[in-house]
This record gives sequence, structure tokens and C-alpha cells, in this order.
Amino acid sequence: MSNLVFSSYRDLREKLLSKSLSVESVVSTFLARIEEKARLNAYLSVFKESALARARELDAKLASGKPIGKLFGLPLAVKDNIAIKGEKLTCASRILENFTSVYSATAIERLLAEDAVILGKTNLDEFAMGSSNENSAFGAAKNPINEEYVPGGSSGGSAAAVAADLALVALGSDTGGSVRQPASFCDVVGIKPTYGRVSRYGLVAFGSSFDQIGVLSKTVEDAALALEVIAGEDPMDSTSSDKPVEAYASATFDPKRLRIGVPKEFFADALDKEINAMIRGALEKLQAKGAMLVELSLPHSEYALATYYILATAEASSNLARYDGARYGYRAKGVKDMAEMYVKSRSEGFGREVKRRIMLGTYVLSAGYYDAYYRKAQKVRRLIRDDYLKAFEQVDVIASPTSPVPPFKFGEKMTDPLTMYLADIYTVPMNLAGVPAISVPIGRNAQGLPIGLQLIGNLFAESTVFAVAKLVEESR
Ligand code: GLN
Repeated sequence: MSNLVFSSYRDLREKLLSKSLSVESVVSTFLARIEEKARLNAYLSVFKESALARARELDAKLASGKPIGKLFGLPLAVKDNIAIKGEKLTCASRILENFTSVYSATAIERLLAEDAVILGKTNLDEFAMGSSNENSAFGAAKNPINEEYVPGGSSGGSAAAVAADLALVALGSDTGGSVRQPASFCDVVGIKPTYGRVSRYGLVAFGSSFDQIGVLSKTVEDAALALEVIAGEDPMDSTSSDKPVEAYASATFDPKRLRIGVPKEFFADALDKEINAMIRGALEKLQAKGAMLVELSLPHSEYALATYYILATAEASSNLARYDGARYGYRAKGVKDMAEMYVKSRSEGFGREVKRRIMLGTYVLSAGYYDAYYRKAQKVRRLIRDDYLKAFEQVDVIASPTSPVPPFKFGEKMTDPLTMYLADIYTVPMNLAGVPAISVPIGRNAQGLPIGLQLIGNLFAESTVFAVAKLVEESR
């Protein structure tokens, strides 16, 4: 029974609606497989009883003939930095190890309203800071394609869960690539929507002007379906957009009218040769369908990584000030006064990478350096955004690799934070610009490791992004 695998939610939904399978049997299959594959460390908590109870409720709902939701019976995993009422919310950090959410994220409320079933919470780099999952305080998730390799990060647990059939769809969060890079490392689809497309209410803040909840799944259509449900205005998040949500799952784009931008800066020497060839191969297939490839320039690309690591750490240092031992989570024992409580709680509760970022962020915001670093980076962010908006006057989507390197082994990049940060070179610009981007699998390299193609769209052009991603998926 535990080898029952679904190619997509459409496939599962058909079987549920025809009653050839019950939601309960599907959910118990997934739960059994999560247990079998516990060594992947994809989940930090599993909602065994509540998921089964909910499955039975859904079966009863279908039997009663009541109208059912768009995601009826969908087995879903949720990154453990997104709040679900009454469940733990650890952010893979010691400081929140015993913290329980008192409310649910808007995205969660919307998924539940459409009859999804949440199986549990997935592993991540502590507070979503990292690109390999190795910064999790509870041990890294493994890449199901090859367990000697990292699953990517920070949503590595979500990517591993989908890739290993431990969930059909998973939520992640993307501040600088954390949905797209792990999707690419684990051979699944991952979308980061336009900033403001999905409410951040209930997503633990890292870099508030970058953070977006995103979706990981096996197929483009499943990601589109889930995004349709979670997107839209929310009075609880003033940065959420009131633009109407389109029908992403049924979006199409005529390849004969399609103009794909190929930025010269993204295909420079630093790019892995094999990845370069594979990306070009995938683009040629679209060209064969009638698409036009347009070489273009995004002149400020070389500053994106530095700009991101200044602004995201600045925002993180401010957002993480709330973990002080008084209000949230871990409090150090045996302290003599309040100052010592702050210092000890934070010193013992946060891991190395989180501390490094708090220090970097505090430094760039400090009185003497604010103008030289923070203010300057804000200006460069604007220039980068303008590069993209200008490019979209000429093209419908921009193509790039998702990652400059294939998945790497555990330990390979942990000694030098800078080489780890370099892994984000193709994903952070879209968070700086606020534009949507998806990673779609395009095949395996000579070592059998997955490679992803990134498609970037104009602000709120998710329909175009999904439609073109579907063309890539079909021509694989
Ligand atoms: N890897 C990037 C970082 O470490 C992105 C993280 C994210 O998107 N949450 O900041």
C-alpha cells in the first residue's frame, strides 16, 4: 500500500471523486511512507492523528454530497516557519523549540478552507537562513535523489518531502531563493510569487521586504492550483496586493508569440558548463516551438548578491530582536538580571549562521555605516528592479539557471559562508526586484543530479510564468 504514488493532484482527485480511494487511505499511505523514510529528516513534526481525523471528516463530507473544495484531500506539507494554530513553530531553531502557534497563517486558513490535509511541518535552515539545510538545529534533511547530497535550502525539507512522495504539495518561503533552489536540487517545481501576491500573515519574518510564501510540487499545474488558493489580498498584511488572482492552473501562452530574454550576465564563465548546456538545450526546445530568444542585459546583476546580503541581514537583525527570552521561546536559566537573560537566551538559542547575520545586519545599520552600506544598498536595489522592469518591456519571461552549481555534498560549503552565499546568485535578484520566478526541472547532469531552469516574469505575471513553465515541462 505504501507504494501508492500519484503523478499529480489531478490524478489523485480523480481517484478520490470516483471513490476508488478514500482520503483516509491516501493519508495513511503518506503517513506510512513518512515513517519509512524518516532517515530523510524531511519533517520536523508529523500530524498523525489530526491528519487522519481530518481525512475521515473529508470522506464524510464527500459521501454527504456537500460541495467540496478545490484541493479536496490534497496531502500537504508546511515549512516550519509558517504558523498553524495549536502546532509547534520551531523555525528549526533551539530558541523556538517549544513554541506553539496561537493562530494560523492566512495561507493555511485558505488551504484548509479548500479541503487540503496537512501532514506535518518540514525541516529548514534555521529561520530560513541558508542554502543547504545544514543550518537546521535539528539536523539537515537529505536529498532523496542521492542522500549524500544536500536538498538545498532553506525549504529543503519541503523539497525533499515532495521529491520522496511524502507530500504531494508543500509550502515553502522564499526570501532569496529558498523555494526555487531546493526545488531545483530535488527535481521538483518551485514558485516564488510576486512580492505582495501572498499574505505574509503567519509567516515568521526574516527579511520582510523580500519574504514570500511559495509552493513546491511535482507538476507546474499543482503549484499553480495551490497558488490560486493562497494568493490574494489579506487585511492582516498591508503589503498584500488587492489585484485579482488569475486562474493560474489553466493559463496558456502561444509559443509562437513568446519572447524569452536571455541575460548575458547570467551565462558568464562562472556558470557550470554542463548546466549552461542543459539550460541552452531546454531553451532551444522552446525555440523549436516558435519562441524567440532575445539576448539582453541586466547591467546591475553583479551587485545583486552584495545588495541582498546587506539588506536581508539588516532586516533580519531587526526582526529577530523579538527573541529576547522574555516574550518568545527559550529563556536561559540561572541568570541574575534582565540584560544577562537577553544575552544568554540569544547566545544559547540561536545557531552560528543566525548570529552571523544578526551581527552583519546590526553592523550595516549602525550609525557610522548606515549611509555607506544600508542606504547605498537600497539605492542599488532600485537600480536592479529597474533593470528587470525595463527588460519586461521587451520580453515575456527571462530565463536563467536556478543555481550556478549542481547539488553539492554535505559539508562541502559549510566552512566558508561566502561560497554558500554564492549559490544564491541567480535567485536573490528576483527578491530584490519583487518579481515572480519559478524553477522547473529540466533533467539530470552526468552524475545523475537534477538541474532546474528558472523562468522569471514581470510583476504579477504569474499566469505567464506558469504557462511558459508548462511548455518547458511538456518538452522535457
Ligand atoms: N539562501 C538564501 C539565504 O540564505 C535565501 C534564504 C531564503 O530565501 N529564505 O539568505
